[in-house]
Amino acid sequence: MPVVEDVTVGYICPLYTELKAVLATFDNILPPQTIRGTKYFYGTIRGRLAVAVPFPYQQIGPLTALNCANKLLQAHPSLEEEGSYCLLVGIAGGIWTQETDVRLGDVVIATKTWDWRTGKQTSGGLISTQDVRHAPSYLLDGLGQFLYRRSQIGQKIKNEITCMQGRSTGKDDGWVYPGKGYDDLYDVDYRHAGGSTCDDCDRAQAQKRLARLDTSPRVHDGLVASGNVVLKHAKGRAVLEERRALAVEMEACGLPDIFAMVRGISDYADSHKNDIWQPYAAATAAACARLLIHSLDEVRAASNSSTLDAISYLDRIELPRMLRNPASVSEEGQSSSPRTVRSECSSPAMHKQQHLKNAVRPVPIPRPAVEPANKEKQISVSPGTTVSRIADVVGNEGRGKEDNDERQRSQVYQDDRKRRVHGNFALRVLRPILNREVFTKARLLPGMTS
Ligand SMILES: [Zn+2]
Repeated sequence: MPVVEDVTVGYICPLYTELKAVLATFDNILPPQTIRGTKYFYGTIRGRLAVAVPFPYQQIGPLTALNCANKLLQAHPSLEEEGSYCLLVGIAGGIWTQETDVRLGDVVIATKTWDWRTGKQTSGGLISTQDVRHAPSYLLDGLGQFLYRRSQIGQKIKNEITCMQGRSTGKDDGWVYPGKGYDDLYDVDYRHAGGSTCDDCDRAQAQKRLARLDTSPRVHDGLVASGNVVLKHAKGRAVLEERRALAVEMEACGLPDIFAMVRGISDYADSHKNDIWQPYAAATAAACARLLIHSLDEVRAASNSSTLDAISYLDRIELPRMLRNPASVSEEGQSSSPRTVRSECSSPAMHKQQHLKNAVRPVPIPRPAVEPANKEKQISVSPGTTVSRIADVVGNEGRGKEDNDERQRSQVYQDDRKRRVHGNFALRVLRPILNREVFTKARLLPGMTS
């Protein structure tokens, strides 16, 4: 039986078609539970315990989304903690333009949502008074990394869908690409001829679009329009095209801010809207969500790791020793002094925690030996401090009276001294650290530069 306190991924899937696809992305399916009258489905995904919940039967819209989200969060408070993900995964209508080229089966990740149906009615039509709402920070922080190789994601989604088909026991999942022949965007003025498909519609009325060379879904990110209305009218898309919305749906405007949204495109929000693409679009969205979770976890892990490394690096660069006596640093970069930085933490774990707490604070550095021993010198190595600046401080602190006199005598000496300090510092202390992979990936503390 899953422990609800351990859940760190929460899915809302408005339709059962969407729920089915999401459950197929789970590595393991765990027994469902009913909490306060709502049935929740559990499983593991990428080492996390996940829960998924659909809307009540035949209920749609933002109010249902809000109720569903509130119940989900009340039943699983851990979803609101740092490190958890809340996702709405499902299908949506696509807003195709030449610029966006959103097609059926593609996936849209919402970086912003816009309640386009709440506003004031004027003679010129409804004018939305709502501002766009940004996606949660955990998504925006990691999305760039996920989309870095955008062209490869489509193939990964296809691979994931193959895995989903292997996990599923059903034979009518419909997670297969319906074919380009069913992806027609008709002219705005041409209405659907009738029936559950567009078999009777005149394909000569379809817009001429460049054919795609492959059938892999593409992943888009941007604005998604949301409103309490089913859009099945092509002319209604005009305002959305103006705002460069990529998709239109009905739930996001009711969701709490911590929910991210991944939508598969199943129609073009016009009168030709039908169900043919729904299972495949639900599958591409679910597969993309699984890949996204993995990517966000990687970004988070790398960030935590680099923060710890950066802090421990600041400890290891032996600033205190160099400040006390720069000459004590031997040719091999090792100090002749046996003294090390004293830690207030008694264990490595506590040591790391303390470092994280101090990550953006000035590091207390003992004064050089010439100063009274009971005073401490503050040197800022927090955001904004460059390696060059650290070297400058080290050099200045290391200069005694003789150095100062000599510096006054000769500008040449001053330049030589500076170069020497910089060079020694870079060669013996910084280079081994900077050569490490974590630093070559530019994951220094925010604001630090090498
Ligand atoms: Zn049609």
